Amino acid sequence: MSSGQLIVLTGPSGVGKGTLVRSLLARHNELYLSISATTRPPRRGEVDGKDYYFVTRSKFEEMIYQGELLEWAEYANNCYGTPRFDVEEKINSGTKVLLEIDVVGARNIKQTFPDALRIFVLPPSLEELERRLRRRGKDSQEAIACRLERAKEELTAIEEFNHTIINKDLNQALQKFESLIFAV
Ligand code: 5GP
Repeated sequence: MSSGQLIVLTGPSGVGKGTLVRSLLARHNELYLSISATTRPPRRGEVDGKDYYFVTRSKFEEMIYQGELLEWAEYANNCYGTPRFDVEEKINSGTKVLLEIDVVGARNIKQTFPDALRIFVLPPSLEELERRLRRRGKDSQEAIACRLERAKEELTAIEEFNHTIINKDLNQALQKFESLIFAV
């Protein structure tokens, strides 16, 4: 059986990674999106086991200790990590697996999966990113400020990635995302 592929989508919080991924999954149910574990509390409407596995910090530390995470990173005072088992199993059975993770996680993946397709999503501008973060209304003022600071750092990492997508127009961004994944 042919081996699957790992596709890593990264970019600053609020850039629209989630919308891109959801739109692509709606078109391609053969893709598998890894569900991350996080110590962040659920936002309104988020469901445990669907959006994330919401865990305590001690459970997260145990997952690290037991080697259950393929990668993990601290982001805006919370921990996020990719559970190893499902991802490895899906790749071995020939599936294309998507990870939607931050820059630090994407760097770590480069060490373990050098052949992963690594895509960076950019906002049209930092001002627009700030508008989007405020408009979605999911984070406190403090969390938004923290995410914007982190975004500035993350944007300096673009050159480490195989491909970039500027998310100005959702349809165009989606088309590029789709062609990058299915051209390989
Ligand atoms: P949010 O709190 O907005 O859901 O996610 C914050 C950031 O954490 C986003 O950039 C998101 O892509 C990233 N993230 C989500 N899951 C993971 C993961 O498993 N590992 C890493 N390294 N980052 C993640």
